[in-house]
Amino acid sequence: MRPHTLVGMSPAPRQSVLLLLDPGSGVTHLADPGDPVLTADDRSAHRGDGIFETVLVDAAGVHNRRRHLERFIRSAEALELPRPDPAIWESAFDEAVQAHRRAFPEAAEFSVRYALSRGPDAALAPRGWFLTAPAPAEYARQRTEGIAIGSLDRGTPAYVGKDAPWLLQGAKTLSYAVNLAAGRWAAQHGYDDALFFSHDGANSIALEFPTANLVIARGRTLLTPDPGAGLLHGTTQQGLFAAAEAAGWTTAYADLRREDILGADAAWTTSSLRRALPLASLDGEELARDAELEREVFAFVHPDLAPDT
Ligand code: PLP
Repeated sequence: MRPHTLVGMSPAPRQSVLLLLDPGSGVTHLADPGDPVLTADDRSAHRGDGIFETVLVDAAGVHNRRRHLERFIRSAEALELPRPDPAIWESAFDEAVQAHRRAFPEAAEFSVRYALSRGPDAALAPRGWFLTAPAPAEYARQRTEGIAIGSLDRGTPAYVGKDAPWLLQGAKTLSYAVNLAAGRWAAQHGYDDALFFSHDGANSIALEFPTANLVIARGRTLLTPDPGAGLLHGTTQQGLFAAAEAAGWTTAYADLRREDILGADAAWTTSSLRRALPLASLDGEELARDAELEREVFAFVHPDLAPDT
């Protein structure tokens, strides 16, 4: 009987390559993305006990490579997983990118999702893998049209992670069932995405989307929620802020209320694959859009030369 699988769970993404990594020795081998490669007792498969990163690669290169690897290492620390050896993960990453480019030379833009599992119950021998995939098609349309978002109560107060580190806020773990449930809620209510707010009654602040961050503009000042409030510190948001600062803009982490979003000159959702998508409405209320700000922010997250930062 074939073992249960997570990686390679059918239907396998088309135009993907799968590279398996032994994170201890650095030994890699390419596998068929449709092949069963994890046993049913793997902690990542039945507990979500592991970490991952999703990285954008395009003709310009690898985006926010260093920021992804640093966050991956921080996530490993938070879960008390063995520290990923940067040399091993960098080398395997390059191998996966090269394998994808060899297999699909026409691919302009693709993602590399890399993950580390604690391993099977019996041995707890960590396992790593890299799965590539084409970038989702719908983001190009949403970049022009903007997206409609609905607000959701996250159920926990802001900054609760300080006293409750076991919530693993800020770590990019493989436990995404809650994030996916929020995405389904959004779709069922006619929204393109859901924005989590903290459970603080009248003092509630915006946190993040299930798989993306919030950035708003007041003129040429960009604001985003403080990661310490209980959200993932986005590599795209960090890259955007660095590019904006270099161009003379002001940036800041801030507690943002609902009124701040409604009163912003423009607002975006940012993530590695989305880069920056403008927000068109919040709970049915139209949000301001500004073509010039959008054009400039678009340029910040679409650098000609991907910074290896
Ligand atoms: N917040 C969450 C919960 C995410 O899952 C992600 C990305 O997947 C982000 C924010 C955005 O992070 P990044 O820009 O590094 O992709």
